[in-house]
Amino acid sequence: MLQEHIRNIAIIAHVDHGKTTLVDQMLKATHAFRENQQVQERVLDSNDQERERGITILAKNISIEYKDVKINVIDTPGHADFGGEVERVLKMADGAVLLVDAAEGPMPQTRFVLSHAIAANLRIMVCINKIDREGANPEKALNDCLDLMMDLGADDDQLEFAMEHVVYASAVNGYARLDPDDGNTDMYPLLDMIVDALPAPDVDVDGPLAMQCVTVDHSDYVGRIGIGRIYSGTIHAGDKILVVKNDGSRAMSQVKQLFTFDYLGRKECTQAEAGDIAAVVGLDSTDIGDVYTDPENPVELDPIEIDPPTLSII
Ligand code: GDP
Repeated sequence: MLQEHIRNIAIIAHVDHGKTTLVDQMLKATHAFRENQQVQERVLDSNDQERERGITILAKNISIEYKDVKINVIDTPGHADFGGEVERVLKMADGAVLLVDAAEGPMPQTRFVLSHAIAANLRIMVCINKIDREGANPEKALNDCLDLMMDLGADDDQLEFAMEHVVYASAVNGYARLDPDDGNTDMYPLLDMIVDALPAPDVDVDGPLAMQCVTVDHSDYVGRIGIGRIYSGTIHAGDKILVVKNDGSRAMSQVKQLFTFDYLGRKECTQAEAGDIAAVVGLDSTDIGDVYTDPENPVELDPIEIDPPTLSII
């Protein structure tokens, strides 16, 4: 069953190609900010501030409501030192927006994250940004993106999808267009394409609970927080669940609090359904890869390999 009212997407971009600006504009376009509220903080840079408040849950991820669809925007680290983490967080996504500067074209971090998105078999649409910039060459940037996808082993379906789903944007000026010269002055063509063309999660809402932890956060107040995608069923605050670790060991645990993404922060909720991304408080020794499942009817998910910490030698 498809969860038509959810889109989980990643934005793939090299540093400075405009991811933060684009996300700010998507939030503005969906009225995430009250009329009189200035967008002082650039949202994806809000991590430190969130940390100071004592609890950081998905601080760099955001969620937008548009046309009755909840769009979870999953942040991906761009640096090659975080290869394992990129692979893991992309497990939460079904689609991606490949965001590229119209003058620079794809750059090393574009390549790095894109290779993981292709390997994860995500549907990838293209957003050529900064079309207002001097030296912008949107057609060349697009062709370079498609060549790069081919280089990185995208299959025919992925390539065809990318070719047919392109928007041209000037994030700084707050517009996205289906044609660089069409004169549109708002962000809706981008939001429409995300909602209409990127896939909804293909999950079983009525099945037994299965959620997999891909990121662990920590708060001095509540301890470890397991964050991941729900693959089937519904998780509730208060549920007694079975936690299955990577090594196969099992233990019962209780969900004390549950959160989902909500615009720039998170919202405490009583339940979260398959297809959504949740943060679970109360599972004291939770780790990356843990599967949270129904004790009566446990579901197995593919284990997540965790790389040993790497030291970068410069
Ligand atoms: P990020 O590193 O990908 O998050 O990029 P930012 O959103 O921080 O943008 C990097 C720089 O590019 C900033 O100075 C933005 O104002 C600028 N920028 C973002 N979008 C556009 C655009 O559409 N046109 C132009 N000319 N500049 C942009």
